[in-house]
Amino acid sequence: METKFTPWRMEYIKRDDHTDGACVFCTMVQAPPANDGDNLLLYRGAHCFVVLNLYPYNPAHLMVVPNQHRRDLANLEPAVGDELFTLTRRSVAIIEQAYRPHGFNLGMNLGRMAGAGIAEHLHMHVVPRWGGDTNFMPVVGQTKLIPEELAHTYMRLRAYFSEIPTHPG
Ligand SMILES: [Zn+2]
Repeated sequence: METKFTPWRMEYIKRDDHTDGACVFCTMVQAPPANDGDNLLLYRGAHCFVVLNLYPYNPAHLMVVPNQHRRDLANLEPAVGDELFTLTRRSVAIIEQAYRPHGFNLGMNLGRMAGAGIAEHLHMHVVPRWGGDTNFMPVVGQTKLIPEELAHTYMRLRAYFSEIPTHPG
């Protein structure tokens, strides 16, 4: 039986330390930049930021997220939408350089019915793919990588994102 790969089904799950109901994306972007390493936040743009997924499907699975709390893609401000796509494009380019994947899945879940774990705050998944990874993904996708692995991925990608200006083109 062929397993369909749907990386956006497994969502970024709230951390235990955010049990007060606060939006995890708002919490991390409003935190001081000094905390970006702890939050795995890779890049801050004018309108959007880039963050590693705590529960990655594959190494370097990241998300591009508007700074402001938005659930409505249809009415997203053009400047925010433009930067969302620009940073998605830049993320793909960086992961291609750093990890040499064979392909990518990009996706958004709009609404909880569509599988969004954090439905009220838009986010774009960027998931690198390697040949044969679907065989173990259903298992690995449920497993939180050990923090050291995430920290290593973070340091590796952060070096690339630090080269991008605040207004990415
Ligand atoms: Zn939010």
